[in-house]
Amino acid sequence: MNDGVTFRRICVFCGSRFGVRPAYREAAEGLGRLLAARGIELVYGGGNVGLMGAVADACLAAGGAVTGVIPQALMEWEVGHTGLSRLEVVDSMHTRKARMAELSDGFIALPGGLGTFEELFEMLTWAQLGFHGKPVALLDVEDYYAPLAAMVARGVSEGFMRPENSRLLLHGRDAETLLADMAAYRAPVPARRIRDQAQL
Ligand code: AMP
Repeated sequence: MNDGVTFRRICVFCGSRFGVRPAYREAAEGLGRLLAARGIELVYGGGNVGLMGAVADACLAAGGAVTGVIPQALMEWEVGHTGLSRLEVVDSMHTRKARMAELSDGFIALPGGLGTFEELFEMLTWAQLGFHGKPVALLDVEDYYAPLAAMVARGVSEGFMRPENSRLLLHGRDAETLLADMAAYRAPVPARRIRDQAQL
């Protein structure tokens, strides 16, 4: 679907907390509204807490479609959102990530904590191996992700990453520009054919 025209579904990874700055929540709500306005379905972790709930609620309130994917074990902890267009309850964190990846044409990380980092980096490592050719992007707010982008650059300069693999991670502050960058993205790593995600 990444044909430079439009995306059907985009997965958003983000914090299960709000963070200390109001700008984080505002960015999550803005992204939810933008996806709704573009007719792009939001795929996310299915929770009703923190930025996760904020992006979903804003998308729904603007008339958008939202699919949540949540492990049974987190239904209580992350308060499974009951107002979504679709909520898939799965058996594990691994199934959740694989399912979100399968459903989506691209990935955006908003500010978040360890869970958000983990989800972002798993999509990047799959892209690095050519298991998918979908765009992976950081929507930066208040320079939250500047140290992470610097760490990726350091991975290249210290010889742990191929220079072209730093292009796997798109990075921007404006959601509309980021969507345009994602639409124009061409994977630098040739896609491999794999039978299923279980091989990863
Ligand atoms: P956080 O950024 O830590 O607030 O978490 C954001 C989301 O990532 C939540 O839905 C968490 O359940 C999820 N998450 C936390 N740890 C992991 C993990 N190891 N693998 C995948 N997702 C995770």
